[in-house]
Amino acid sequence: MGSYGRPIEEQAIDDAIQARLQFFSKTPCGRENDVPFFIADTNKIVQQHRRWRNALPNIHPFYAVKCNPDPKLLQLLANMDVNFDCASLAEIEQVLDMGIDPSRIVFAHPCKAPSALDIAARRGVRWTTFDNFDELGKIQKISPELELLLRIYVQDHTAKVALGEKFGAPIEIARPLLENARQLGLKVVGVSFHIGSGASDPNAFVRAVQHAKCVFNDGKSLGFDMQILDVGGGFGDNNFETMAYPLRETIAREFTSPVTLIAEPGRFYASGFYTMVCQVIARRTQKGTTTKLPDMLYLNDGLYGCFSMKWSEEKIFVPTLIESPGIFGPVTRIWKPHQYSIWGPTCDSIDCISKEVVMDQEMMIGDWLKFQDMGAYTISAASRFNGFSNSYEVIYPAQKSEQGMAREPTYCRESGEKH
Ligand SMILES: *Cc1c(COP(=O)(O)O)cnc(C)c1O
Repeated sequence: MGSYGRPIEEQAIDDAIQARLQFFSKTPCGRENDVPFFIADTNKIVQQHRRWRNALPNIHPFYAVKCNPDPKLLQLLANMDVNFDCASLAEIEQVLDMGIDPSRIVFAHPCKAPSALDIAARRGVRWTTFDNFDELGKIQKISPELELLLRIYVQDHTAKVALGEKFGAPIEIARPLLENARQLGLKVVGVSFHIGSGASDPNAFVRAVQHAKCVFNDGKSLGFDMQILDVGGGFGDNNFETMAYPLRETIAREFTSPVTLIAEPGRFYASGFYTMVCQVIARRTQKGTTTKLPDMLYLNDGLYGCFSMKWSEEKIFVPTLIESPGIFGPVTRIWKPHQYSIWGPTCDSIDCISKEVVMDQEMMIGDWLKFQDMGAYTISAASRFNGFSNSYEVIYPAQKSEQGMAREPTYCRESGEKH
């Protein structure tokens, strides 16, 4: 393979991986080998933000913290004037504790715990979403000063994670909800929707914006000062522009008077931020059996760890081998394509990362595998099932400008402990 023709950034990531592996190779049986590690790429975030500003210049992004709450990621986004979508008290507190003004947060969860409502309001958060009558009653009792966005139901059937099954008011109860809010003396200021995580049908946005427009009109006719349209998340990396342009055009067509436009992108920003490096801890060849199944590789992470999006998405993971000295000394392998199934470390047979992938070469125990685009819904969703750690190391390679003399990259331990 070699490094010929690869982009500079990818080379920098590979260099950081090699530096880390040299450290590991001194302790082939060290416990640190049992946990995968991540290389973060801040350039990627800057790039994504540039794309956002080009395609959706009028829509202010509120990054969905649940996607990846890495403190360095949040800080970088905050510095670029990105705001935050928080869906729990802990997320709100994390953002506020960074010194970020509460006006930069939308509490974008339509079904909140009373304590979360109370504390969020008292700490100065201004906006939250609702989609049902009971939530309005709760808000009126606990935090009537909050400004509300009515989350309406819209569904893109192509979405990887269909959120409409859980949240969103059906369009026919939008008006009764607004009337109820009016009676309770609450302040509705806009509409939100979420077409589903990993959606790919731009018409879903078109329909959603049209529905939102109707709700805006209803709200205005009831005397609400409707100012905010929140178009949610669901933007992918590969199809971002194809989703963004129809959205932008529909908004321009439907919303002719001034409106504040916000969005809640998660995976669009976070996905490319992490490259994940896992180790092959065991291997089962089908040698001597009659099965037609591929040989099996067992990694030090799986569906109960950072591959949990596999539960809900049809994601295909194709790793590449990192060339490195074997942990038990030099290895000889067969350098031709080889089919494998790839498994996580737990005892659960559903813990399968890939049913069938073709690797460019034979894989050996101790090999390190690189998975790209592992920044979204990975560490933030990992569990400790079966006693495996969910505390991962994230390496942030120094930027070129701050590197100075060649030296070891800095290591930071990410505490991803689940409560
Ligand atoms: C999860 C979520 C998001 C982010 O979704 P992505 O698909 O990662 O962009 C945004 N808004 C709400 C309300 C969410 O639940």
